Amino acid sequence: MLIDTYGRVATDLRVSLTDRCNLRCTYCMPEEGLQWLAKPDLLTDDEIVRLIRIAVTQLGITEVRFTGGEPLLRPGLVGIVERCAALEPRPKMSLTTNGIGLKRTAQALKAAGLDRVNVSLDTLRPDVFKTLTRRDRHHDVLDGMAAAREAGLTPVKVNSVLMPGLNADESPDLLAWAVENDYELRFIEQMPLDAQHGWKRDGMITAGDILASLRTRFTLTEEGQEERGSAPAERWIVDGGPHTVGVIASVTRPFCAACDRTRLTADGQVRTCLFATEETDLRAALRSDGEDGSDETIARIWKQAMWGKKAGSGLDDPSFLQPARPMSAIGG
Ligand code: SF4
Repeated sequence: MLIDTYGRVATDLRVSLTDRCNLRCTYCMPEEGLQWLAKPDLLTDDEIVRLIRIAVTQLGITEVRFTGGEPLLRPGLVGIVERCAALEPRPKMSLTTNGIGLKRTAQALKAAGLDRVNVSLDTLRPDVFKTLTRRDRHHDVLDGMAAAREAGLTPVKVNSVLMPGLNADESPDLLAWAVENDYELRFIEQMPLDAQHGWKRDGMITAGDILASLRTRFTLTEEGQEERGSAPAERWIVDGGPHTVGVIASVTRPFCAACDRTRLTADGQVRTCLFATEETDLRAALRSDGEDGSDETIARIWKQAMWGKKAGSGLDDPSFLQPARPMSAIGG
């Protein structure tokens, strides 16, 4: 199993399938986009499925989350999901997406074995969406969510990032809309992972701000720690239930003590943490012959990497350094 020196065991694998994206969210990347990873460096579909097979059959991974960039841009996505669904034991599988194109692929992903989706949507206002993402695709995201719900990729979870002066006032409206549409809403504190390195701690909307704003319209009852387990989101029961709302407060209320995540980048690097400044290469071993390229060798390299996982994000540490790799190439 993938254990670290703090006794945490990683059972949840986040796989970034591409660093490319079809949106340009202001808190993630510049308008012109980024220097994308070179094709020869990207893992092939076979290599991705092989690493997931090793993780599931040899390293105790029980959950796989496909992320990006935007994973729906990966041509072989449905095939990758299908092959992973055939693994024994079968991992639970989910997808983090911006929803663009989900209307077209939801049924095929469900049929391939995907269990559920997380869709990013920060606003109910198309004009604000256009300002935030620099694309006029708000309706496509809403259509994508509805198609995911109809296809049974449920619960459809919604990830929202609030930005001062843009959509910070929208949290109660977003929650009312999510309750009405039976979506599970989670607010995510903005994190220092943007490609522009423009993040400022005093410029972000905190969990405390969000809860105070929600409480102007809803009665929130905190769910117990037991229900939470190792999940990133703290959850509150809305108006006595059954709906809940979540807050992922990586900055102001870190949850690293119970972290069960390990990450794989689209170019074959293991990241022990979202904020890791070091990575461990698996691609060279994948493309080696003989013992150097065996499943056992790859599993051993992965285990060694996770053994060295740091206690937490280090965000509160004055010496904190933002990782060189941007969020768009790490994935949620
Ligand atoms: S910051 Fe790192 S250690 Fe903490 S919960 Fe996130 S991935 Fe885990």
